[in-house]
Amino acid sequence: MTNLDSRQLDILKRMKIDVWRLRDRQPADIDAGQSECARGTLLDEIAAEIGQCQRCQLHKSRIKTVAGSGSSQADWMFIGEAPGQNEDQQGQPFVGRAGQLLDAMIAALQMQRTDVFIANVIKCRPPGNRDPLPTEVAECEPYLHRQLVVIEPKVIVALGRISAQALLKTSEPLGKLRGTVHRYGASNIPLVATYHPAYLLRSPQQKAKAWQDLLLAQSVISSSL
Ligand code: URA
Repeated sequence: MTNLDSRQLDILKRMKIDVWRLRDRQPADIDAGQSECARGTLLDEIAAEIGQCQRCQLHKSRIKTVAGSGSSQADWMFIGEAPGQNEDQQGQPFVGRAGQLLDAMIAALQMQRTDVFIANVIKCRPPGNRDPLPTEVAECEPYLHRQLVVIEPKVIVALGRISAQALLKTSEPLGKLRGTVHRYGASNIPLVATYHPAYLLRSPQQKAKAWQDLLLAQSVISSSL
């Protein structure tokens, strides 16, 4: 309803009839709305490609691919190594015991899993949960890279040595990679490396150090606001 004069508006008000008007749209509203939708669509397209992927031998033994899950608008992206048995069965990242600990870590940051994006360096389970081979990491790399370009997180948290080394293209041990804000690739996304939740389940005394890493990542977010 538009073009009502003040007398008409007054009558409608006294009759308790709400007048609905179109809010003035700002260019930023339009862009944000479209980009949220566009990002979701792009992520769906990448996930569909991953679902069909036969680039490496892991497609022969997998049950389901695990593209990743969460918000296409996420400020935080948590990147693990590879799907395990539970993830292979369910097609979702970090759904086993390590996933429960990751959820607790995310909750300690006052967020939930749907606020962030969780993915892995490789999208199919290596048989027997062996470490991914360098060739498998290389074949799978473009998928994760495209996900990162679409989401543009404000910070990446690399979970464990394999993830940190693959993302930073280094063979430095995790102990040396922790405690510093690195940059991912040409997009320069800040990256903090920490322990893998599965390791923290075996070595709970290291949880305090992992919490320091998360606080470092949080300081990156705070300084980017
Ligand atoms: N470990 C990982 O690195 N990723 C998962 O998705 C599950 C366990």
